[in-house]
Amino acid sequence: MRTIIQNNIDLASFFAMVFRCVSFRCVSFRCVSFRCVSFRSLASLWLCLCLAGSSAALAANPHPIAVVATTSMLADAMQRIGGDRVAVTALMGAGVDPHSYRQTRSDIVRMVRADLVVSHGLHLEAQLEPFLAQLVQRTPVAALAEQLDPAKLLHDEDYPERHDPHVWMDPRLWADVVAAGAQTLSRLDPEGRPYYEANADRYLAELDALAADSGRMLAGVPPGKRVLVTAHDAFRYFGRAYGYEVVAIQGISTESEASLNRIEQLVELVASRGIGAIFVESSVPQRNIQALIEGAAARGHEVRIGGELFSDAMGAPGTPEDTYIGMFRHNVSTIATALAGSAPPAQAPEN
Ligand SMILES: [Zn+2]
Repeated sequence: MRTIIQNNIDLASFFAMVFRCVSFRCVSFRCVSFRCVSFRSLASLWLCLCLAGSSAALAANPHPIAVVATTSMLADAMQRIGGDRVAVTALMGAGVDPHSYRQTRSDIVRMVRADLVVSHGLHLEAQLEPFLAQLVQRTPVAALAEQLDPAKLLHDEDYPERHDPHVWMDPRLWADVVAAGAQTLSRLDPEGRPYYEANADRYLAELDALAADSGRMLAGVPPGKRVLVTAHDAFRYFGRAYGYEVVAIQGISTESEASLNRIEQLVELVASRGIGAIFVESSVPQRNIQALIEGAAARGHEVRIGGELFSDAMGAPGTPEDTYIGMFRHNVSTIATALAGSAPPAQAPEN
């Protein structure tokens, strides 16, 4: 891969271009041009151009394929699929908000040196997009969530031309992202295809079991209590999958500011419907949730924090939430327990 990459653009020139772009906020003609071109198109074009010659280079390279994933959820998926044929690292760790994350200089070096960069897409990594659009000139970049069937995606209510990127909130939809990751690795490393497909099949079966277990647990909450109030609007796919009403203070992106009017609306909703628990998120500051709790208290309604949810980032290394499956099980258990008032039966049949 590195041989192929070196044929495309001189490294020093690339860094000079990138740093110039980052420093001057993308005002150069070159950067503006890339903003105007579909990132997905560029990524697909580059991947097609370089994959044709990649297998020979990989066969001659005994080292694992270096994969850099933007989010920890993507890194987890790529590691499960790639096993010991890949070495995966994530740009964003625990508690990091992907909507506002900007690449550091060390991130740039890691991505430029990678054999494959895996991004989420769908405007999740909004601040990384200009850099990724340039990176695609010299490193394969695959935006996995952009390969999903658009018919399965929800639109962003604030920006209808965009899709809601939080697809990992439905394990059966996340399974499609995992499958796209397996296909990407198989194209990059055809000799490993059977290995990747076997790993993906095992992981997809685990995701299917996760979805079923989650459905049973969440069905244990009385229908009138199935209202999920969170800091930002990351749980709409979760709500669609499990029949929960989802209400958020901020929009799809944490970059939108919550207005006082919005908080007042939610105080009214929480108090009038007698909602007993609302949730903080590990990657979002708690101030808006606290304002909501205090507003409800001023109206004589006590609402408590039902727990911390992992919305846009997994848990810290070494914790049970440091995998996608662990993170999702934590969220389901926290939501079901807080809203039901006690732990609902996890093994109860769905109907
Ligand atoms: Zn989000």
